[in-house]
Amino acid sequence: MDECIFCRIADGRIPAGKVLENDQFVAFRDVNPKAPQHILVIPREHLVSIDDLSAWQHCEGHAFLQFIAEVAREVGVAETGYRVITNIGHDGAQEVQHMHFHLLGGEYLGDLR
Ligand code: 5GP
Ligand code: ZN
Repeated sequence: MDECIFCRIADGRIPAGKVLENDQFVAFRDVNPKAPQHILVIPREHLVSIDDLSAWQHCEGHAFLQFIAEVAREVGVAETGYRVITNIGHDGAQEVQHMHFHLLGGEYLGDLR
C-alpha cells in the first residue's frame, strides 16, 4: 500500500508527531486536532476499517485496545477521561482508508453530536 498516507506515516516516510509506537501499532497527532489531545492510533498492517474482517487475522484486537490505553496514559488523559472513535465507510465519514481510532481528550467533550 505504497500510496496510503497512514502506511507511509507508520514506516516513517512521512513525518508525523508520533507519541508512541511498537512493532504492531503507531500513535501520532492528528494534523487537524478536534480536541486538546487528538491522537490517531493505527495498526502498521494495512486494514481498511474494523469492517475489514479478514485482515483482523493479522491484527491482535486485544493488544490494539491495550495500546490505545497506553497512548492515553502517555498523553496524560487516562485520569481525566477520553473518547475513542473509529469512522467506517461513507456514512461514517471515513476519509483515510487505513483503519484508525481517534483518541480525543484534554477537555470535557460533552455528548456525541
Ligand atoms: P477519518 O475521517 O478518516 O476518521 O479521519 C482522518 C483523520 O486523519 C482526520 O482527522 C485528519 O485530520 C487526519 N489526517 C489526514 N491526513 C493526515 C496526515 O497526513 N497527517 C496526520 N497527522 N493526520 C492526518
Ligand atoms: Zn495503509
